[in-house]
Formats: sequence, structure tokens, C-alpha cells
Amino acid sequence: MTTAIETPAELEEFRVKVRDWFSSNAQREDAQAGGEAGEVEAGETEDFLVVARNFQNKLYDSGLSGLAWPKEYGGQSLTMNHQRVFNEEASGYVMPSTPFMVTLGMCAPTILQYGTEEQRKRHIGPMLRGDEIWCQLFSEPGAGSDVAGLTTKAVRDGDEWVINGQKVWTSGAHYSNFGLIVTRTNPDVPKHKGITMFIVDMKAPGVTVRPLRQMSGASGFNEVFFDNVRLPATALVGEVDQGWTAAIGTLMNERVSIGAGGGGLGRGTGTVQFDRLAELATHTGAITDPVTRNELATIWVKERTLAILGDRMRASLKSGNAPGPEGSIAKLAGSELGSRVADMAMDLLAESGQAWTNDDEESLRWATNLLGSPGGAIAGGTPEIMRNILGERSLGLPKEPQLDRDMPFKEIRAN
Ligand SMILES: Cc1cc2nc3c(=O)[nH]c(=O)nc-3n(C[C@H](O)[C@H](O)[C@H](O)COP(=O)(O)OP(=O)(O)OC[C@H]3O[C@@H](n4cnc5c(N)ncnc54)[C@H](O)[C@@H]3O)c2cc1C
Repeated sequence: MTTAIETPAELEEFRVKVRDWFSSNAQREDAQAGGEAGEVEAGETEDFLVVARNFQNKLYDSGLSGLAWPKEYGGQSLTMNHQRVFNEEASGYVMPSTPFMVTLGMCAPTILQYGTEEQRKRHIGPMLRGDEIWCQLFSEPGAGSDVAGLTTKAVRDGDEWVINGQKVWTSGAHYSNFGLIVTRTNPDVPKHKGITMFIVDMKAPGVTVRPLRQMSGASGFNEVFFDNVRLPATALVGEVDQGWTAAIGTLMNERVSIGAGGGGLGRGTGTVQFDRLAELATHTGAITDPVTRNELATIWVKERTLAILGDRMRASLKSGNAPGPEGSIAKLAGSELGSRVADMAMDLLAESGQAWTNDDEESLRWATNLLGSPGGAIAGGTPEIMRNILGERSLGLPKEPQLDRDMPFKEIRAN
């Protein structure tokens, strides 16, 4: 995607710029135990959105957003080495990036790859600047792992399309400006072949967003209803009935993004979780216990391995390769690491992980992290689905039997 090269002196100059920027514009992470799950919880409040938008605006205006994205669409056309330097310098600072994860990690790459030139010019810059927040409208009550079984309909009416149906688990729909929706446009062909993707204005008449409450008490995702929502012809992404290819592209980017901890914002290097746990173990006194030290060492190794895999995936993507099954490996490994980290924190906190005093923010954040970790494993594809992809695409095992794959969609009994 990018052809720029850089000299060591340029990279060093860039490093100094990023370091100066972070020291004057961002807060250190010291007070943020629990990390990104804590940010997800915060992501639902208006105040947090304002903070997040301001931060992203400032990053963009300083030339530090979309580093390896093409200049013609608002990026910087820099190299993956610039991104790596940015990641190294950003590590240890609070990045209020949660509201932009779906936008930059999933929707923007899909628009870049499958959108029209007009869509790229219209949307990618505002996405990189944080002026537009997007959501991903794929899952439905009857179509999650098997998203190709979706039933939300789009029917052509003159120059417009009319959408009817329901989506669910839509992260950030309540504060999004736009969404990428996949719809059924042709029920007479097999399920993967009659799907079309559109850009939907989330404030359009007929769109109703209803928050869903999670076990942590937060409402990060929603059910979204479409009642005769009219979309212009220019909302079409890719070809009519060919939306499955674009949808797979979005899902692969999602797995890379979640797995690499990147969110399109270039995080996920270093040993942030290890550092937090080591600090907690020091605080509780367990740091001298050999079993604790052994578990800490295991977490360090897993986190470093994942970070290196993340760097490799980002480098491969930015060289123009399509996301592959390694995104699923990273997603699976990342969710296993997340739950291991959450469990270890609970062991270290003992009873204060269950009941904490009002001023004990650290225990609150770790408990929030624990309650968020199963959702993190499910979002973007469950561990079972990741293992299926790994088995089929990386290990070459036989495909799962799919009896309905070649049937016309309207003849599939569930639909
Ligand atoms: C925090 C969070 C955020 C999310 N955000 C979004 C979002 O922004 N946009 C969006 O569109 N969706 C979103 N989702 C939805 C998510 O993509 C789905 O929950 C996920 O794909 C699983 O679908 P399902 O919940 O319908 O479960 P189901 O597909 O019904 O699965 C139920 C169980 O069956 C297992 N299973 C299903 N099929 C197979 C199989 N072939 N082989 C083996 N086991 C199988 C699953 O692993 C699971 O254990 C989010 C989910 C979460 C938890």
C-alpha cells in the first residue's frame, strides 16, 4: 500500500516528534490498571467520547494519525517503521481509542479496499481525524457465527434501496455516525452469493438503536432496527450480491485488529499486561512467590509473542497483502491471554477482587476487566470458529460439512 522508504535519521527525527507530542498531549498509564477493558466501559459515556474525539483530532492535526495510510485519503503515506516507532513511543500512555476501534480497525480498511473513490475521499479523512465514528452491522439474532445466514433485506426501489430487518450486538451504534451493513438482496441464490454491503447513515429516518446491558453493567453494544430505511445508490459498497467478499475482508481486519490489539491505531506492542500484573503482584507482596513468578513469566512470553505476531501482521497488511488466517490465530491467542490475565489479577487481589472499597479504583478496573473478557473472546468470532478457521486454512484439515452451502437461501429451513 505504501512505497515510501525512510532513513535512520528520518526515523529518529520522527521518534523525537512522537515522544514530544505524547509528553505534552497524553497522560501516563500508571493509573489505568485493567487497561483497555476499562476504556471500553468508559467508552459509553458522553464525556469519554468528547475526550476521545479531541485526542484523535489532535493526533490527526499533528500528522500522527493514519501513518501508513495513503496521503490522498488523509493519511501520511509513511512506512511501517514509522508505525513501529509510534507504537513504541505510545506504549505506556493512555490512548482513549476505544470508540475508534471499529471505525479504523474494520470499516476504514473495508472502504479503502471495496469502496468507491468518492466514498474513500468522503469518509476516510474524517474517520482518521475522529470526526466520523462507524459501527459494524453484521450480526443478527439468527446469524452470528454463521453471518451469511442473515435475513435483513435490501430491496431496490428506483435509484434507492430500502432496508428492513434487525441487527444485534452492534458495538458503538448509539454514538456512531455511519455503519457498514450487510443485507440480503437475492434469496434465490446460495446464502453467500446474495449479500450486499451498504453504508448506512445511523441518523436516517427508520433507524432505531436500543442499548443492551452487559453483565459488567455497561452498555457498549446495541440492537438496531431498520424500518423502511432508504439509502441512496451511492451507499452501495462493492457490487450488488457480492457483499460477502467485502464482509469477509471486514471480519479478517477485525480479527487482525482485535488480535494485534491494534484497533487501527497502532497499539499492542510491549508487555503492558505483564507490567500491570507485576506491579499488582509487587503491591500485594506476591511477587516473591515462585508460582506467581512462573505465571508472570508465562504471561510475558505469551504477550511478547502476540505483539511480535501483531507487528508481522501489520507489516504484511501495509505491504498490500490481504489479512489471512494469522488474524484468527492472534484473535484466539489474544482472548486466551486476556482471560489468563484477568484470572491472575483476581488471584492476586483475593477478596478485594470481589468486594472493594469506593476509593479502590484498581480493584474496580480489574473486576471490570474480568467481566469484559468473555465478551472479548466472542466478539469478532468465537474461539470455536477461530479454531475451525485455523484447522481448515492453516492446518489443511477437511472443511466442516455445510449442507446448506449450495442451496438457494430461500430453501434453507432455518430462514
Ligand atoms: C463484546 C461484543 C461486541 C460485538 N460487537 C459486534 C459488532 O459491533 N457488530 C456485529 O455485527 N457483531 C458484534 N458482536 C457479535 C459477535 O460477532 C457474535 O456474538 C459472534 O459472532 C457469535 O455469534 P452468536 O452470538 O450469534 O453466537 P452463535 O453463532 O449462535 O454461537 C453459539 C455457540 O455455538 C458455537 N458455534 C457456532 N457455530 C459453530 C461451528 N460451526 N462450530 C463450532 N461451534 C460453533 C459458538 O462458538 C458459540 O459457542 C459482538 C459480540 C460481543 C460479545
